[in-house]
Parts: sequence; C-alpha cells; structure tokens
Amino acid sequence: MIIIKQKDMENLSDFKNENSLDIFTQYGIFQKKKTLCPFHAERTPSLSLYKSKITNEWRFHCFGCGEDGDIFKFIGKIEGISFKDTLIFLGIKSGHVTKPDKNIIRKLELIKKFRDWCNDYERFLRNKYRKWHEIKSQFKNMEEVEVFYKFYHLENIWEYQLNILLFGSEQEKFNLYKEFKRNGK
Ligand SMILES: [Zn+2]
Repeated sequence: MIIIKQKDMENLSDFKNENSLDIFTQYGIFQKKKTLCPFHAERTPSLSLYKSKITNEWRFHCFGCGEDGDIFKFIGKIEGISFKDTLIFLGIKSGHVTKPDKNIIRKLELIKKFRDWCNDYERFLRNKYRKWHEIKSQFKNMEEVEVFYKFYHLENIWEYQLNILLFGSEQEKFNLYKEFKRNGK
C-alpha cells in the first residue's frame, strides 16, 4: 500500500491532465468515437471517453458493462497490474513524474501495434467470411461444393479466430497475434 501525499496527488492530477488522452489513444480509445470495450465481450462499441466536470480529467466509461475510471484504473485493469505498478508503468516514481521511460514508450508502441493488428485482422476475417458465405449460398450441386472444399476447412479457422478477436481475453488475442508474428504473416 502506498500513501500518496497531497503534493503528489497534485502531480498525479497534472500527469493525468497532460497525458490521459494520449495514453488512451495509444490503446486505441479515441475521444470522438465509441470503441469496443476491452473489459467485456461485445459486437457493438460502447466504451467512450468523457471529461469529468468535477476533476476535469479524461475518464473512460462503458455503457455495456459499466466500467468507469481514470487513466490509472484503465491501465491497471487492462495490463492486470496494481496501482503501484501502474504508476511505475507510466513512469511515475514515488508520486513524481519522471521522464517517460523509453522501455515504457516502446511497450506502449508494441501494444498499439498489437491492437491495430487485432482491428485489421478482424475486419479482414469478417470480409472473407461474408464473401465466402455469399459464394456458398449460390452452390447448386455437390460438384461445386467439392471444388470449394478447401474453404470449408478455412471457414472453421476463420470462425475460431474471429471468436477470439470478438470475445476472447486479451491473452488469447495476444497468443493469436504472436502465432501470426512467428509465422511471419
Ligand atoms: Zn464494457
């Protein structure tokens, strides 16, 4: 348990004012549009950012699962780390904001790459899947089905991967991402 002094509280709120929006953006959460909530499974985006009238800070709120909080809570939850580690993660040491750690910036960049990949690949899969279903619905006989037999196999893979991207945990998505990177795709 760390105790935060009044002065440190002020530092933290300065930090939030200066950095919250940037950090949210690095995580693919934007000011003007709703995003898929990373804390519950959903198909329609319901997570948005708002500026608190009381503290004047940027916070997130999910209209689906009700999660709500500031940037510290967001990082803590999405990274699965304690409040103390969140501060370290963000380059804040004993309440004082230090220069952002290069490693942290690098980590945030990697996270952003990972999230961009998830979004892009999800779009790619949805598209393939939709097209495949259009083709499939027009088959007239077994010969045509057999010509496309390869796609019946792929369909399973696409469904499996889409399921992970839409409803999987962060870890499952990350495993999928790693698998892709390993295969050099
Ligand atoms: Zn949610």
